[in-house]
This record gives sequence, structure tokens and C-alpha cells, in this order.
Amino acid sequence: MSDTSERDAGFDKVEVLVVGGGPAGLAAAEVLSAGGLSVVVVDAMPSVGRKFLMAGKSGLNLTKDEPEAAFLERFGDGSETFRSAVEAFGPVAVRDWAQELGEPVFTGSTGRVFPKSMKASPLLRRWLRRLGERGVELRTRWRWTGWDGAAFVFATPDGERRVEADVVVMALGGGSWARLGSDGVWAEVFAASGVACREFQASNAGLLVDWTAHMEGFLGAPVKGVALRAGDVVSRGEWIVTKRGIEGGGVYEVTRAVREGAALSVDLMPDLTVEQVAVKLARPRGKLSVSNYLRKSLKLVDLQRSLLMELGRPLPEGVALAALIKALPLPVTGTFPLDEAISTAGGVAWEALDGFMVRDRPGVFAAGEMLDWDAPTGGYLITGCLATGRGAGAQALAYLGR
Ligand SMILES: Cc1cc2nc3c(=O)[nH]c(=O)nc-3n(C[C@H](O)[C@H](O)[C@H](O)COP(=O)(O)OP(=O)(O)OC[C@H]3O[C@@H](n4cnc5c(N)ncnc54)[C@H](O)[C@@H]3O)c2cc1C
Repeated sequence: MSDTSERDAGFDKVEVLVVGGGPAGLAAAEVLSAGGLSVVVVDAMPSVGRKFLMAGKSGLNLTKDEPEAAFLERFGDGSETFRSAVEAFGPVAVRDWAQELGEPVFTGSTGRVFPKSMKASPLLRRWLRRLGERGVELRTRWRWTGWDGAAFVFATPDGERRVEADVVVMALGGGSWARLGSDGVWAEVFAASGVACREFQASNAGLLVDWTAHMEGFLGAPVKGVALRAGDVVSRGEWIVTKRGIEGGGVYEVTRAVREGAALSVDLMPDLTVEQVAVKLARPRGKLSVSNYLRKSLKLVDLQRSLLMELGRPLPEGVALAALIKALPLPVTGTFPLDEAISTAGGVAWEALDGFMVRDRPGVFAAGEMLDWDAPTGGYLITGCLATGRGAGAQALAYLGR
């Protein structure tokens, strides 16, 4: 790919402009360049795909190997446009795409799909090579600042530049991890131009809990073998206790339900019923301390017993204690700050779009996390970004009659 950030004219006319070089923008560029169009990708950062690379730091979870209906359900009641895009480019297509790019993938025990290398960098390198071979031009350090009529205005190292294009796909990301490029500033420009946007909300974020000093010995410790419940959502995933609250994959599964008002509780013995726990608690305590009794009768480990003491005191007895162990209220005071969230809900409202095209701006499409959809971690996010990027690209092609 050529980096042509040095150019002499203040105005360009290009065939296809893609603004934002994350997975959604690159997926759109892939479809549009495959359609024989000449594509320019611009990004505000010195290089593209920074959040994608960050996602690869802890193992790039590309998608989830599960039946289509179950997969789609994890996105909630999204728009029909979103649903169709994921139906067209779902888990099987994502796996095939990565393998076809030369990145073998494997499915972990929970169905999560990763590249064998676990990283994003080899995949991104191959992807950019493919785009470069198709003539896709990359302009970095080009920050989109707004519209001037039909022209897209950019702040660049060489001053202000204006670009007009036959079609444009915007894929500017959500509103978290601003240092990777996705600062969400675009939402102000959209809103000021009359494009309806929903406020960003932290999704897949840690939850704030006011722990007492009693929990200090457990900071950073993994909580395993319990379940978190928020409304109808139950998560068996692991999480950790931190100074500010709780975080980790298990917590992210319930963030949305908590954000929407559901009370959170912990089930310390998710494989037993209240009655089964009550039977185990029927043994006389004798001279044992409460903590030792719980350890011996229920095999609760230190951290589980501490959670019970922290959140459940004064402890009731008998069946009431069994019920508490099965549904220990965990009072949450909010989510971690927006910028720390793995992803954000909110963004361009579906009613502002016709398919992926911005209703008031014919020929301008939007894709990826900047759209108003939400999903838990587990590969759903990248799949959603790839699917909407490709969907927007396909609709842009159709708009041009290609
Ligand atoms: C720590 C972490 C781990 C993650 N792990 C996973 C995972 O394992 N699996 C998974 O599915 N998802 C994961 N995600 C989420 C996933 O990375 C994102 O959902 C995805 O990158 C969003 O893609 P996107 O293309 O919509 O936006 P982004 O990847 O955010 O790309 C947007 C691009 O737009 C550019 N941009 C923004 N504003 C402007 C502007 N004004 N002008 C020009 N360019 C601009 C940015 O520089 C950026 O390059 C993770 C996220 C984080 C933070």
C-alpha cells in the first residue's frame, strides 16, 4: 500500500473514499476494490488498524463457532440491515476469509475462534498486502473534520484538504480507547449536521463496586466456578476483583443488562439448587467458625466465602442462607469510564440510515462500531464490524450500479 500523505493540491476527486482504517473500513475497501473500483482509505492515525492490533494482544477472537440463530441472538434486537449483513458474512465466512488470507484459525473449547498465531498483526499485514495489490491507496494522519457541501474536509500534515468521491464509506469506530484513534469526535460532527446519533455507552466494560477493606487481599484474583446473573442473562465466565469493582469476560456478558437497569447477583454454587445447598447446610455447625463451616460443608474457597461475608452479612441461617448463596446481591454503582470499555454501544441511529446509507447524504455509507449496535465479547464485535463493512461496501457498489 502506498502512503501518499504528501500531495500538492488542496482538493481531490476520487472514485471511492473510505474514512477509517479499522476492520470495518478495511472490509469495505476489500469489497469495493474487488468490484474494480479505485479506493482511497484515509485514517487520522499514523497507521491503520490500531484497535484491531490491540484486540490481538490478548488473543484475537475473530468470531464464535455457533449456530446462526444463537450467534445472531447475541446482538439483541438489532436492525434488519445489521441482521442481513451478519447473515451474509457470519462465523463461517469470517473463518474462511481469515484462512483464505493465509491465517489458519482454530476453535477453542468454548467455541471462540482465533488465528493460530493468536495475534492480529500477521492477519492485518496480509490483509493490507491484498488491498495494496488491488491498488487501494492509504493516506494516514488524515483526520476527517466535517463536510463542506459534498466535499469531505480533512486536517492533514500538509494543511486542510478536501475530497469528493462517487461513494464514501465511513467507519470511524466507537467512543473508547481514544489513543488508538476511535475518539468518537465524529459523533459531534454528525449530530451537528443533523444525522441522528445515540449517546455512546460503555459496553463490555468493568462494573464499579464499593468494596470494603475486607476484599483488599483478593484484588486481581480470578473468580471461577460462580455465575453472575443480571435479569435473564447468566454468565459463567471468569472475572476478577479489582480496586474499583469487577472486570473480565464474565462481567462483560452482563454489562448490557446491568446498564439497562437489571440488578446483579452472584450465584456462588451455580451447579446446585437452593434445596441441594440447604441440605448441605443442614449439618450442625458445632464449634466451627462460620467461615470454616462454609468451607467444610459447601467447599466454598476463600474468595467465595469472602464475597459472601462482604456482600451478605449479617448472614441468615438455613434455607435463607442457601438462597443467599444462590443469589448474593452485588451492588453496582456504575460502569468503568467510557474510554476504558472494550466497545461502546450507541452511535449513528438506524433511523438516520437507509440500509447502511446515511439518509440525508446519498452515496455516503456508515459501518462498524460507529453504528448503534451492541454485542458481548466472544468474537461478535469483530464479526459485526467485518459484516457491516462488507455490507456497506456491497451497498455502495450497488448504488454505483456495479
Ligand atoms: C483491548 C481490546 C480488545 C478487544 N478484543 C476483541 C476481540 O478479541 N474480539 C472482538 O471481536 N473484538 C475485540 N475488540 C473490539 C474490536 O477491536 C472493535 O470492535 C473493532 O476494532 C471496531 O472496528 P471498527 O473498524 O468499527 O473501528 P476501529 O477499529 O475503532 O477503527 C476506526 C478507525 O477510524 C479512525 N478514525 C476515527 N476518527 C477519525 C477521523 N475523524 N478521521 C479519520 N479517521 C478516524 C481511527 O483512527 C481508527 O483507525 C477489542 C477491543 C479492545 C479495545
